Amino acid sequence: MQWASLSWKRIPEAIDRCQVGILPLGSVENHGSHMALGTDYIVPEHLCRMIEQKVDVLILPVLPYGVCPHHMKFPGSINIGLEGLLQVVRNIAFSVLSHGLKRLIFLNGHGGNDPALDTVALEFYQKGGLAAVIDWWVLAPQLKEEWKGGHADAQETAALMAIHPDWVHLEDAMSGTAEDLSKELKTVYLNTVQFGKGTIRVAREVPHVVPSGWFGPRPPNQATPEWGREMLEGTAAYIAEFVEAFKRVKLPRS
Ligand SMILES: [Zn+2]
Repeated sequence: MQWASLSWKRIPEAIDRCQVGILPLGSVENHGSHMALGTDYIVPEHLCRMIEQKVDVLILPVLPYGVCPHHMKFPGSINIGLEGLLQVVRNIAFSVLSHGLKRLIFLNGHGGNDPALDTVALEFYQKGGLAAVIDWWVLAPQLKEEWKGGHADAQETAALMAIHPDWVHLEDAMSGTAEDLSKELKTVYLNTVQFGKGTIRVAREVPHVVPSGWFGPRPPNQATPEWGREMLEGTAAYIAEFVEAFKRVKLPRS
């Protein structure tokens, strides 16, 4: 059920029946030369439409903007910053809580949003609610290993192919070769290097790590719409089951 489709008169009954709300959110940012800037919010928004078919849940309007200062050198990226996202998500969460919605799920499409989401989730708890954070691209390979991915690699490309095939242009994909920081410090993710046996986070601008803008275990041209459809369906089904379990959790004392 879409929160925004209801009148104020019908909200209390809908909250009573659904008990759980989902806020889909993402980012508008570089996703390689081959796919849409909006990928990170389009995927969670689409998952919400699928979840809504499976379980009684309130879907909040999507929040498309997020935290992506590391992508700003790519044309089109829009960054509202950590403080910006923190303030917006906090106010959304406290608003729905004030209307009686005490169980909230952040369905997230972008890793840069996590510090803000974890912060608000705890504040929500301290006010008597309970909030969960789901990073869909981390969850998916836990459900099936082949669904593993990085940033704008085959995993996200497959997801977008299943939703908006016309927003993917594989003919524009560049090679994803990463720049190592040095001979000893090998790049293993956009913000992480391997040194000997361990990994260390080192912040860099994304185009200095990968000029193509994508990074991950499998190149974009390995994506197929079938992979995307199967992955979205499996992930949506799992989250729908989680929603039911989340409804049964006892709330903290407020
Ligand atoms: Zn993404």
